[in-house]
Parts: sequence; C-alpha cells; structure tokens
Amino acid sequence: MHTVGSPYTTQQAAHVRAILEAENLFNVDRWEFNGVMRRGLTTCPLCSRYLRYEELHSMLQLEEEQALENAGIQIEGATRSTIVNLFHLHPLRYGAIEHVPQKVAWGHAVCNTKLGQRRCYPMQELIDTGLKIGVVTEDGTQTFGWISTDWEMIRSPLGSVWVRLCGDTEDLEPSSDAQVLSDISADEVE
Ligand SMILES: [Zn+2]
Repeated sequence: MHTVGSPYTTQQAAHVRAILEAENLFNVDRWEFNGVMRRGLTTCPLCSRYLRYEELHSMLQLEEEQALENAGIQIEGATRSTIVNLFHLHPLRYGAIEHVPQKVAWGHAVCNTKLGQRRCYPMQELIDTGLKIGVVTEDGTQTFGWISTDWEMIRSPLGSVWVRLCGDTEDLEPSSDAQVLSDISADEVE
C-alpha cells in the first residue's frame, strides 16, 4: 500500500492495520528507524531508494545488473524472483529464529544479494553510534558517513553503503615454510 504508485489507499486496508495492531506490529516510528519506510513511503532497507508498486510484480533481470554479472542467468518462470521481494534485516542463522515479521521487509532482491549474510544496519542506528568515518588528507579530515560498532557496515547520509567483505587476519605474513620457499626461488632467479 505504501509503495510508490500503489493503487491501494490506507483507507481500503483497515483490516490490514487491525491485524498489524493485534500482533503489535503497527509501528511507523520503528519502520522509519529501520529504514523500511521514509515519509510514509516504502523504501529498500539497504539502498534507501523508494520502492515502486510495479517492482513487486516485475521479474528481476539479473543480466542488467553489472555488479552481479557473474550470477547465473535467471530463467523466467523458473525462480519467480521479482525486483522487490522479502528482505532480511538480520541474517538467517542456524539455531536462531530470525524469520519474524519485525526482521523482514520489502527490499530489492539485488540489494538483498549484495548484503549477503550480514545484518542490515539502519542509518539511524549508525548515526546513534557516533562513530563517524572520514578520509584524512594533508588538507584535513573529510567525514562521509558512520560505521557500525562491529565495523561491518558504513553508510553515508546520501545513501551510499559499504560492507566488510572479509575480516582481519593474523595470517598476513607468510609462514616460515613459505618464507623458505620464496627465498629458494629468489636465489634461483639470481
Ligand atoms: Zn535497494
């Protein structure tokens, strides 16, 4: 109902509101905080763009998405994935029930794939951490966003999102065995 271009109005959906209220799910402030709605319209939790009603029904064309050009080509009718589908704000984990209404929202299927098994930190939550991120140059520091306390996600106020692809490692230096091998090959080159 709150997607851009929706043919439905909230007046037509008193029954939906009644169900949400009965389940303690009707909470506009929480939707706005989580980034699943902005100024009364549905937004993608990752990229913050407004979601269009027709995107709930249009098939996803992955080959048009450059960032996912290695993804398998989708056969229309086989997977039935739409441009907008159910989006997990929290990653699905074994042993934890994360598939609850408070933790899912409408979002871009492509954004959901990019996010992978990571938590989708809302912008407001990152701002509340107070951990600003900036670039330090000789001319000074230019801040451009906020980072989550676990350093997994950075967001800029204009909508850009960065996520950590892999974590720190204590194994950056080659092992002693590898060192010996590289010394040998270096000698051979000489
Ligand atoms: Zn998105």
